[in-house]
Amino acid sequence: MIPDAAEYGVDLAIDEREVERLLAVGPADVEPAEALTFARNVFVPLTTACRYTCTYCTYFDPPGEATLLSLEEVREICRRGADAGCTEALFTFGDDPDDRYTEIHATLDRWGYDSIHDYLRAACVVAIEEGLLPHANPGDQRREEMAAVAGVNASMGTMLETTADVPAHAGPRRKKPGRRLRTIEIAGGLAVPFTTGILVGIGEGPRDRAESLLAIRELHERYDHVQEVIVQPVRENERWDGHTPDVETLRRTVAMARAALPPEVSVQVPPNLAPARELVDCGIDDLGGVSPVTEDHVNPDYAWPALRELEAIAEAAGVPLRERLPVYDRYLPADLRPARFDGRPASERGWLPPAIREALGADDDAGERYRRLLGVDRPAVQSDDSTSRP
Ligand code: SF4
Repeated sequence: MIPDAAEYGVDLAIDEREVERLLAVGPADVEPAEALTFARNVFVPLTTACRYTCTYCTYFDPPGEATLLSLEEVREICRRGADAGCTEALFTFGDDPDDRYTEIHATLDRWGYDSIHDYLRAACVVAIEEGLLPHANPGDQRREEMAAVAGVNASMGTMLETTADVPAHAGPRRKKPGRRLRTIEIAGGLAVPFTTGILVGIGEGPRDRAESLLAIRELHERYDHVQEVIVQPVRENERWDGHTPDVETLRRTVAMARAALPPEVSVQVPPNLAPARELVDCGIDDLGGVSPVTEDHVNPDYAWPALRELEAIAEAAGVPLRERLPVYDRYLPADLRPARFDGRPASERGWLPPAIREALGADDDAGERYRRLLGVDRPAVQSDDSTSRP
């Protein structure tokens, strides 16, 4: 039974036999991937406000201390990213600023924006203008909130973390699993290619991890929209003195994720937080976003490894390393899909909104950069498969 799921209208039935199957899975039961991928991104920490207070998190700042980037600052970060060859603007958030953040709301009001979503939309437009594809992580979203920004994002994401009710999420503004699941479901309904994941070591156990992965799988089976699932260990920091999960726990969890999810869903570990070299034989096929320009604002104590390190991880595993866009190949229209793609294309649901489709096909430096990465060398002709997103 997933806490709060019914309260948020999420109807999920977790099969107990599947949970038992996953609890028995180990690294020897899954196949290593034939290639590893990564995306080149810049972090854009639009705001450090957050309505929640997860006890392991160093990202959020309390009211009075939280920051809000101006659009000029967003433009500067994106320009540096584009100059460095990045393709993705990763908009990091806490969760929506609540009423305690009076200064953030006053600033938004002064700048002429009704809400943080209204402002995020404007920031994403800036990123597109500067030659990057937005991938926003604004936390729990209602349908109208996500719809307000989906039209200017190549993909979006939010971590499920866990379906368990853990003390690390406790407090007056408790992050609820049911609400997270509802956000993932809303993304499916809006045809948004979506990234989610589990956080390992915050008080959940192996059974909770299996249930979390099966919940993600079930939502993906309904909408075909989950492009990747991150397996992320919690790390010690100034707010969290719980332990970091050991390598064996991570190996079993990554293998469990690979066994739980269909092959078209990538399994990612962030190499600045997890010992990726020791996990490649457990089924990971993606190393996440790597920024040559900005630090990882969500985990600032842990520097991103250089691209050379990613190459070394792939070399040690004996597999090629390939750069990808923030939206996975299977969601691209046929004329933009790389020749190397040999998976199952996503069902025809209009995955790319017109603004992103236009950016990918544009006859400008950014368009050429995107298509060079995809191995497609001429501007794509607009097709009508991109009209269902807002
Ligand atoms: S983990 Fe996310 S939701 Fe929780 S406090 Fe940090 S920023 Fe907010």
